[in-house]
Amino acid sequence: MRSSVTAVIPARWSLSSGSPKRDPVAGGDGLTCARLGASATLPVTDIPNTFAPVGASRCRALASGLSGRAAALAESTVLGANWAMKITRRRFFGLLSGVAALVGLPAWTYSTKNYSGPLSDHFDGTQFFDPDGVPPKSLRQVLRWQFGPGRQRQAWPEWAASAYADTPPARVNGANVRLSFVGHASWLVQTSGLNILIDPMWSMRASPFAFAGPKRHNDPGISFDALPAIDIALVSHGHYDHLDLATLSDLSAKFSPRVITPLGNDLTMRSADDAIRAEAFDWHQRIELGSGVAVTLVPTRHWTARGLFDRNRALWASFVLETPAGKIYIVCDSGYGDGKHFRHVAQAHGPLRLAILPIGAYEPRWFMRDQHMNPSDAVKALADCGAEQALAHHHGTFQLTDEAIDAPLNALYAALDEAKIPREKFLALKPGQTFEI
Ligand SMILES: [Zn+2]
Ligand SMILES: [Zn+2]
Repeated sequence: MRSSVTAVIPARWSLSSGSPKRDPVAGGDGLTCARLGASATLPVTDIPNTFAPVGASRCRALASGLSGRAAALAESTVLGANWAMKITRRRFFGLLSGVAALVGLPAWTYSTKNYSGPLSDHFDGTQFFDPDGVPPKSLRQVLRWQFGPGRQRQAWPEWAASAYADTPPARVNGANVRLSFVGHASWLVQTSGLNILIDPMWSMRASPFAFAGPKRHNDPGISFDALPAIDIALVSHGHYDHLDLATLSDLSAKFSPRVITPLGNDLTMRSADDAIRAEAFDWHQRIELGSGVAVTLVPTRHWTARGLFDRNRALWASFVLETPAGKIYIVCDSGYGDGKHFRHVAQAHGPLRLAILPIGAYEPRWFMRDQHMNPSDAVKALADCGAEQALAHHHGTFQLTDEAIDAPLNALYAALDEAKIPREKFLALKPGQTFEI
């Protein structure tokens, strides 16, 4: 099974100081890399599920057909002819894979096996839901965001390299915790002799496609080959910028870590690669990781999907990681809402030594607000959860939404200044930078 995964996932990049190199481990023959120019060919040799195994010509034909149908849909029922005119094939793939990564219409090539289990206050027998949240946006709203008038999508630089690269130690023994920011929502946490990855993502694109979708604007802060032996991976939910099957498959082949994830995502992982040692848990479950370290899954205001027909068929979560240096609250994707989830974590799990909070992927607000915080929300979330210290993530590597690459950081500083909170209390590391508690 593994070969079918690695063959269809975007090529990974290994860390380099200059232009990034394609990682030969991840790339199969003919796969394209994310810095593919618009005029380059697309010699795709294997595309999963509904496409497999087909060549590029069929892929293009399907793309054409589907984009045509999307245009027809837009023209006939949703948006009107002016908007439909703007839907090109390239934009259509970008739309599918981009929103598959986090926000709206998921891609059609992957559909998770359905979770089945007892009903709960957040599972109705078919879908998961947040009793305190709101459902994800509709197709009509996705199309309005992508193709509606007045969209202000800021351009990111083609490449925005970090000046840092980390080579972590093999282990960190004792009570200290060493956190290394890999980029986006990926972290390496080392403590008590354990090496733990959060939402490990080394692929070039946060997308089901090798040739389209949000791509990296900087290298991972740790080269995959420089990773120490990984014991555990925590995967928060199924969106492509968090659950990266290629990376999980490579990690499993090299280190065979435990993979802790919310209910249903284990099916996604194992159906792609049965070597992935996925273990699924519900909100509020606490899992011992060894050496006195434990993790609890906690509710978060978000959603998930990977295919057209699996919206909220798996669960999403944030994590509270218990370490000898204190508890670390890791929020990978979340809307703010009324702040209830953050206050609940403070009550149930406080005091918190550290909170890792998302500050990016938030514009336009009318679309993103319910499932993605902006920096101002993140500053409120920090106050709500009461953590001593915060670190920012989920910005600056993949352009998933409309804000500029530096907007989250500028807005974070403004929000901290306005709240009279020292900027040192909410740090934004660059990929490759580390922080110790
Ligand atoms: Zn997400
Ligand atoms: Zn995300």
